[in-house]
Amino acid sequence: MTLGEALAWARQKIDRLDARLLLQYATGCTHADLLARPETPVVAPAFDQFAEWVARRAAGEPLAYLVGEAEFRGRIFQVSPDVLIPRPETEVLIDLALDRLAGRVSAAVVDLGTGSGIVAVSLALECPGTVVSAVDLSPGALAVARNNAGRLGARVDFHAGDWFAPLAGRRFDLIVSNPPYVADGDPHLEQDGLPHEPRMALSDQEPGGNGLACIRRIVAAAAAHLNPGGWLLFEHGYDQGAASRNLLAEAGFKAPFTHPDLAGIDRVSGAQL
Ligand code: GLN
Repeated sequence: MTLGEALAWARQKIDRLDARLLLQYATGCTHADLLARPETPVVAPAFDQFAEWVARRAAGEPLAYLVGEAEFRGRIFQVSPDVLIPRPETEVLIDLALDRLAGRVSAAVVDLGTGSGIVAVSLALECPGTVVSAVDLSPGALAVARNNAGRLGARVDFHAGDWFAPLAGRRFDLIVSNPPYVADGDPHLEQDGLPHEPRMALSDQEPGGNGLACIRRIVAAAAAHLNPGGWLLFEHGYDQGAASRNLLAEAGFKAPFTHPDLAGIDRVSGAQL
């Protein structure tokens, strides 16, 4: 079996980009190798790995879980089924956070529900003056996040617990979160690989609810953990902008706003204390 033949075989079963990336991961060859030397033989162990991945991908497993990593903002993060796979729309949360931190010599930041750690690690690396803490309820997620921070050289102070529970008495200049916000029973949860992702990271799992249970808890407790003038920023679903702004206003925040993602969809809301 050659590289070219392996690729042609896989393309009948899965998306062509996925086929190419899995072949590169399985064989260690580059895209350029595939184009320039498709006649290169694929050794049996590499082909066996490739064939296993192709079968699992065809059955719906996300590519990131097969190869154990995913890219976010130009950095490679390790992922496992304990954490959500990084989504490009979460870059909006980072950009808005960086705007708030710009020009500050130092700032205390916390990322609630850090998952793989993409938000905490990106902010720690891109804003050297900040002291970044991160919280997650899942021990498996915290292990992945710690590993990512270590590999990427980010200083993040990790805590296990439920939202603000491990942060009693502490105040921050910026609270960021990409919480679970998909409503329980949303058909989206059964599509596009989401069944393979941790349900606790995707949905508040409130039967018959609207997906806002975690956002409600975060917003309600945020003011007690912010310094004067501090900011709360969180990601949410396409139809949760107005409800998010209402929750912020009810909690005493000034001028709540919602920002769209690159697709023009309401994605991040926030406000200043
Ligand atoms: N945006 C993700 C999705 O709908 C969900 C992310 C999240 O729940 N925080 O696939």
